[in-house]
This record gives sequence, C-alpha cells and structure tokens, in this order.
Amino acid sequence: MPWTVIGQDHALGVLKNAARDGGRLAHAYLFAGPAHTGKTLAALQFAQALNCTGEEPPCGRCRACEKIASGAHPDVEVVGVGGPCNEADHAHTAADSRGIRICQVRRMETVISRAPFEGRYRVQIIEPAERLNPEAEVALLKTLEEPPPNVVLILITEQEDKLLETVRSRARRLAFGGAPKEIIETALRTRWSAEPERAAELARLSGGRIGWAVIALHDETMMEQRHRALAEAEAMAAAALAERFAYAGKLGGSYTKERALVQQTLELWQEWWRDILLIAAGREERAVHRDRLDRLRALAAQCEVSAAVRALRAIADAREQLEENASPVLALEVMMLAVPRLRPNAVAARLSAS
Ligand SMILES: [Zn+2]
Ligand SMILES: [Zn+2]
Repeated sequence: MPWTVIGQDHALGVLKNAARDGGRLAHAYLFAGPAHTGKTLAALQFAQALNCTGEEPPCGRCRACEKIASGAHPDVEVVGVGGPCNEADHAHTAADSRGIRICQVRRMETVISRAPFEGRYRVQIIEPAERLNPEAEVALLKTLEEPPPNVVLILITEQEDKLLETVRSRARRLAFGGAPKEIIETALRTRWSAEPERAAELARLSGGRIGWAVIALHDETMMEQRHRALAEAEAMAAAALAERFAYAGKLGGSYTKERALVQQTLELWQEWWRDILLIAAGREERAVHRDRLDRLRALAAQCEVSAAVRALRAIADAREQLEENASPVLALEVMMLAVPRLRPNAVAARLSAS
C-alpha cells in the first residue's frame, strides 16, 4: 500500500522526495492544518517510507511497514497527552497531565539519543503539538536545535499559532488544507465503495476533510449526532436565556467526560452559524447544510451579517476557553450571552408564508 493521503499534493511531494533522497530530509517537520486532513496518516506513512525494506517505500507489506502501521515498531513513537515517562518515582499534577509533560519530552530525548533499534530512522511524532506544556515546549527546543543523527521529529498541530515561534522556525512546515470536494467524492466512491449519492453528500459536508468523510461513512451515530447538534444550534438561536443557560449547564457538565463530543458539537454550531452568515451575506450557494436551507433562509432573513459574525466569534472563544481549561459551564454561559437571539415568531411567520 503506497501513500494513501488524499488531496495534499504539495506536502506529499516534499515527503516523497525526502524519503527517496536522504539529503533533502529535514530533522524536524511541522504538519499544520485542520483536523481530519491526513496529517497523522502522512506522518505514519512517512515513517514507513523512511524505514521500509520493500521495493517501493512505503510498501505497506514489509515487516517495518506492518509494525509501524500497528504501532509496534520500536523506532516509531507517538508522543501525546498522557503518554509515558521514565521517571516512575515522581507525581504528575493534574495541571501537568492536561498537556504533553516535560518528563515525556525528557523520555523522548533519551530514546532518540540511541541509534535506531531496528530501522534506519527513529521517528517521533508529537501530537497534538499545541498541547505541549510550556516547559515541555522549551525543553523540546534543545532537541530541535541539535537533533541526533537518524532522527526525524514530526510535530502535528491544528493550531500552529499556539506554538513558540522558535519551535516553528526550527521545523520544516508543511501545510495540510481542505481537499477539493470532487477529490473526496471520487475517493469515497472508488476507494471506500460509497454509493454515489452518499459520496456526494459526505463530500459536501466534509469541508474538505477526507478523514471526517470516511469516519462518517462508517459511523451512523456520527450523522445522528450531527443532526442533533444542528437542531440544537437552531433551537438555541431562538431560545430565551433561561433555556440557553440550562443547555450550557448540561453541555458544560459533560465536558470532563466527553471533551471531544462537546468540541464537535460546538464545531457544528459554528458550521450552522457560518451558513446563516453566508445566506445573510447573499452567498447561499456556499452554504453547507443544504438539507436545511428553508429553515436557514428564514432565520438568516432576520439576522444581520454582523450578528452572525458575533455568534461565530462567541463560539470560537468558548471553544478556546474550553481548551484552556476554563470552567466549562461558565465558558458556555458566556457564549450563550453573546450569541444573538433570532426571534422564533418571525421565523414561524416566514416559514408559513413560504
Ligand atoms: Zn515496507
Ligand atoms: Zn513523568
């Protein structure tokens, strides 16, 4: 199985050349771009290409490629939140443990100071790099300045502006962006055997994120969750403050246990408000939720562009606050206060008139 990342031609071109010609290999890379665009897959396949013993790296079939794919290769590691360290006798504070800890970076330094155990390169994938604790990030700088030979570091991030400039400038940056809808649609049909209609729908909803489309194709609950979140965004746009606070309490209360789900819900709220904004601004053809167009139109008709912008900003702020471990309920209440209210009566009137 050669490279399977879709729609990231520039990044892949650079990686392929580097894997073929060690002279072009950087010791550190920064893969930057939105979620589900293929960053992690590209990192793993790059690690395979660097260590593959088959004919056309990454062959996907040799021992090295298989071990990397299953996470069992001793020279390829992912350093993520909550990973191991070598310092058994010390305690991690709750604050430390919310990010990638300095002791994990120290462990990584020990690991890469040794020659590769069974492959040609030691590859360390740091993801999500924006979750490096401040002292961990500073510690990493040293390694980025003087990396041992035969080591490749890959920092993966959705929020590169949160990384220190000194860290970013020491890594070769590769941008991952949304892939064109047509490419995603074709891939869903040919590679994942999706029905043409479903492929078209998911490609449209994916916002260019192939990974999202593939997950949605196989996971019905994801589409259900999606419909629920969009319905809630719509209901809350019209709701009075008491109702909104009750919702904030419920959603915020589930944050500790279901971080990702809450963030996804808010991401869908952003999508929903972006559609309102597009329609209010006369760019309806770019709206994503085409199955909801009538209702979106009715709401957008009584929403100023600036109000939709305010809503989007409020949701983005709340998501950021949640990432930074503010009180989840408080962050969501602040958001609810800032999101403009679209009056349900006017909506009903318009719906019945149309
Ligand atoms: Zn191979
Ligand atoms: Zn530790």
